[in-house]
Amino acid sequence: MVIPHDAQGRTYSLRVPHFVIRGAIFLAVFALLFVASSFVFTSHLVQRQVFLYKTRTKNLEQQAMINDFSRETKKVHLAISELVRRDNELRRLLGLKSWKSQIKLSNKFEEKADKVSQDLKVADLKLAEKTERLIELKDWVSKVRQRYAFTPSRWPIYGRIVSRYGYRVYPWRGLHTGLDISGSYGSPIRATADGVVSYVGWRQGYGKTVMISHSYDTSTLYGHCSRYAVKSGQKVSKGQVICYVGNTGYSTGPHLHYEVRKAGKPVNPVSYLDLNILTASKIWRQ
Ligand SMILES: [Zn+2]
Repeated sequence: MVIPHDAQGRTYSLRVPHFVIRGAIFLAVFALLFVASSFVFTSHLVQRQVFLYKTRTKNLEQQAMINDFSRETKKVHLAISELVRRDNELRRLLGLKSWKSQIKLSNKFEEKADKVSQDLKVADLKLAEKTERLIELKDWVSKVRQRYAFTPSRWPIYGRIVSRYGYRVYPWRGLHTGLDISGSYGSPIRATADGVVSYVGWRQGYGKTVMISHSYDTSTLYGHCSRYAVKSGQKVSKGQVICYVGNTGYSTGPHLHYEVRKAGKPVNPVSYLDLNILTASKIWRQ
C-alpha cells in the first residue's frame, strides 16, 4: 500500500500474493549467488590465464637458454674431437698407439634439457680424460727427448764418405765395421750423442781412438785421430769436440773412421747420421 505524505493525494494499494514475494526473494538470492560465484570463477580464470602466460614466457626463455647451451655444448664437443684428432696425429707421428675414448653414450635421455646436461657431463668426462692423456703424452715426449739426446743422430765431421760400412776388398778384404769420412787434418770431431767417454787410447788398426758409451746399449767409436780433447770417464754432450782428425793406425790419409755399436756389435752408421726426434723414434722400434 502506497500512502502520500500530504494526505491529499490518492492512496494506492496493490495486492501481492504471498508466493510472488517468496519467488522474488528466491530469485534475488539466486541472482546474488550467481553473480558472486561468476565473480569468483572469473577471477580464478583470470589468475590462471596470467599464470599460463607467465609460464609460457618462462618456458620460451628456458628453451632459448637450452638452445644456447646446446650450441655451446656442440662447440665444446667439436673442440674436444679436434683435440683428439691432433693428439692421435701426434701419437701416429711419434709411433704411439692412438687411443679410443672409454666414454659410452646412452640413448635413454630424450628430453632436450636432459640431453644437454648429459652432453655437458660427457664433455666434462672427456676433458678430464684428455687432460690425463696429455699428461701421459708430455711424459712420453720428455722420455723421447731424453732418449734422442742419447741417440747418435748427427755427423761427427762433415765430409765426403770415402768408404761405407760393409764387405770390401780394399785396403783389406773383410767387413768394414764403420764409415770413413774424409776431413782435413786437425779438424774437430764431435760426439754424435750425449754419453760418457768409455775409452781414450791406441787401438790396433784404429790408431788413436775415442769411444763413447751412450745409454740404451749404444756406443760410438772415433778412429785414426791425431789428438784427443777428452779423458776417459768424462761426460760429453752431443756436439762437443772429443778429438781431431788424423792419420794414425791403419789409414791411408787423414780421415775419421766412425762406428756405431749396438750391444757391442757394429751396425751401419749411415742411418744414424741425420736423425731428428721423429726418425730416431723409428730406429728405436727396430
Ligand atoms: Zn774405416
